[in-house]
Amino acid sequence: MSKTFDIAVFHGDGIGPEIMAPTLDLLRGLDHDFEFHDCPAGAASFLDCGSDLPEATLDTARRADAILLSALGDPAVRKPDGTELIPQVDLRIALDLYAGVRPVRIVPGMKTPLALPMGKSVDFVLIRESTEGLFHTQGRGTVTDDMAEETLRLTRRTTEKVCRFAFDLAAERKAAGHAGRVTSVDKANVFRAFAFWRGIFDEVAGDYPDLTADHAYVDAMALWFVIRPWDWDVMVTENMFGDILSDLGAGLMGGLGMAPSADIGDDHAVFQPCHGTAPDIAGRGLANPVAMILSAGMMLDWLGRKHGNDALVRDAARIEASVDACLAAGETTGDLGGALDTTGAAAAVMARL
Ligand code: ATP
Repeated sequence: MSKTFDIAVFHGDGIGPEIMAPTLDLLRGLDHDFEFHDCPAGAASFLDCGSDLPEATLDTARRADAILLSALGDPAVRKPDGTELIPQVDLRIALDLYAGVRPVRIVPGMKTPLALPMGKSVDFVLIRESTEGLFHTQGRGTVTDDMAEETLRLTRRTTEKVCRFAFDLAAERKAAGHAGRVTSVDKANVFRAFAFWRGIFDEVAGDYPDLTADHAYVDAMALWFVIRPWDWDVMVTENMFGDILSDLGAGLMGGLGMAPSADIGDDHAVFQPCHGTAPDIAGRGLANPVAMILSAGMMLDWLGRKHGNDALVRDAARIEASVDACLAAGETTGDLGGALDTTGAAAAVMARL
């Protein structure tokens, strides 16, 4: 009998529920055995029970085979100290999701600001370490009248794991025709911590003689993202550098509505669009569901590879191909210049599936 996959579902706030509903319909339409478990979290949950990540939700997430999350939080709902709710970040720490996977793929129909030369295509993956780096003292930094201080921490354990993750991904991609190259994005010329990072990256690279390993400084990489984005395959970088570069990557794809992501650890994984809850367009049917749908596709790919289920991997590729076909045909929401609403855009992808 085929395995039932338990999926923890965070419907979220703002446009979250609007993009999650058609994504679940799409998954239900595939020939797999999914059981979806609702996980209250975020602003609605905070108002309801005083917690944006209740213990019961965390338990459900821990027990699940995978976690599908739309977007959480609402700038108007804040903690007593005035900070915004960021349960998705707390979830990364609680489940040790060290590898933030941010694919950047430009296909016809996207509103990329780039003019790509003939014959050049952009398809790379940025791996953002997601549990330490400059986020180490997040919420605990020291602030006095005269100074403010945060601490960047890199551990050997996590740096090694995230680098190994990047090389494993590059090996998988090489088998599918990509370059087989991993680039460490750091600032090793200025900071000792990044020389430490680079040393570990080089050690891990030694275990992958069939792949190319090289380095780039983060400031140069920001430039190269824009002037020769077709040059890259897999990149791995520190948390804050990755935070910034992944939004730049979304910009290359024409905006956040197109950018999927995964946050992966040894035992758990969360799949969610890069964008936030977009309160400015919530409840109006304007939200682009594509980043959410592509994130669900990444979940199928991850589950399929983890459990040796080729049908899941194939369906992940079919979802991506269906999205590409919709984009090329202009079957999109208004942010991409199309005339469809959220439900219509999701239905177009389902029809092509
Ligand atoms: P957060 O801080 O929660 O990441 P943010 O402040 O970066 O959120 P988003 O909620 O991601 O902001 O929205 C940024 C802009 O992009 C808004 O104008 C929003 O309407 C738009 N946007 C975000 N997601 C989508 C989407 N799926 N479809 C269309 N527009 C979107």
